[in-house]
Amino acid sequence: MENPNRVDTSKLRKEIRLALWAADYIYEKYRDTLVLFHTYDGQHMERSLHFKHRAVDVCLPQVVRDVILNELRLFLGPEYDVLPYADHLHIEWDPK
Ligand SMILES: [Zn+2]
Repeated sequence: MENPNRVDTSKLRKEIRLALWAADYIYEKYRDTLVLFHTYDGQHMERSLHFKHRAVDVCLPQVVRDVILNELRLFLGPEYDVLPYADHLHIEWDPK
């Protein structure tokens, strides 16, 4: 995983660390590179899980996007949301 802006990962909950580890593994498997954009830094909605250290923004997969997203969702299961936006992928741990 690359972290070009050196955002702080020290406060992330272990559940979202697991998601980053899984995403890093799956991106690499398809010869893509995971890039971390934001943890609790950056602009997010006031009630965002970013501020509870339960969400990250990363780059979208550059290749076989749907394959990678499906594999990540399958690995993480129903307690996680994997949400692609125009310019990033939002991943959060949000158990119901
Ligand atoms: Zn986000």
